[in-house]
Amino acid sequence: MDYRGRFAPSPTGQLHFGSLVAALGSWLRARHAGGRWLLRMEDIDPPREVPGSAAAILDALPALGFVADEPVLFQSQRLAAYDAAFERLREAGAVFPCWCSRSDLAAGAGLHRDGCCVAPPDPQREPAWRLRAPDTEIAFDDTLQGPQQQNLRESAGDFVIRRVEGLYSYQLACVVDDACQGVTEVVRGCDLLDSTPRQIWLQRLLDLPTPRYLHLPLVLDATGRKLSKSEQAWPVDPADPLPALRRALAFLGQPVPAGAVDAPALLAAAALGFDPSRLPRHGGCFNG
Ligand code: GLU
Repeated sequence: MDYRGRFAPSPTGQLHFGSLVAALGSWLRARHAGGRWLLRMEDIDPPREVPGSAAAILDALPALGFVADEPVLFQSQRLAAYDAAFERLREAGAVFPCWCSRSDLAAGAGLHRDGCCVAPPDPQREPAWRLRAPDTEIAFDDTLQGPQQQNLRESAGDFVIRRVEGLYSYQLACVVDDACQGVTEVVRGCDLLDSTPRQIWLQRLLDLPTPRYLHLPLVLDATGRKLSKSEQAWPVDPADPLPALRRALAFLGQPVPAGAVDAPALLAAAALGFDPSRLPRHGGCFNG
């Protein structure tokens, strides 16, 4: 099957160095495999969205040399597909409504198991919907991190796939859209490594293919914490792309081509020199 990779930012702030590493890693894998590189804007969580950041990210990427091979998929336009997946799960009895309040959750009902809620059904209020987590080990072999295994019931519990406000969870939307875009390998940061078993379980329930996974090491700040867009950490300057691209290549353990005059030239040389065996497995501090 032809390789199809993707980069799937959330519009929660400007593109920063951590997301540049994910964009570059996914792009290099796709180019190295002679495949396609796709873009998806994960704009399904309006409360977390920073106005203008989707447009800023979509402007920054081509300035950094990343041009998607197909039109951008916007999750905000995919609600019908998520509704259909949700109905399928509901018909299969895989989900249940949950009226637990924030205070119920804070009081210890956070990790639901076996469809048990503390709050009784309340016809006056919309429920959240949780997926029943099986008492099953979900295993997969991450291309970079090696064999992984997680008992969903113990680690994730019955997890929310549709929130009280009717918003679909990242897990559901991601799985539906990776399948819709025909993604064959997901390359993303290690912060999502422990989401992957939930996504694999959803793929099985929805009869969707499971792609390969490659989780890149996280870029950490000087205190050892993950860089996060919402903290505006180390924004990347699209007007001066070469320094950030060189640092991102170095972070990924790749040779940094000398002499490139612009971002497309640097990326083209980087794709030629790309060596997956040099990708580091573990995160590192990077003083941008
Ligand atoms: N939208 C997620 C983020 O920006 C990434 C999702 C994914 O790559 O699966 O952190």
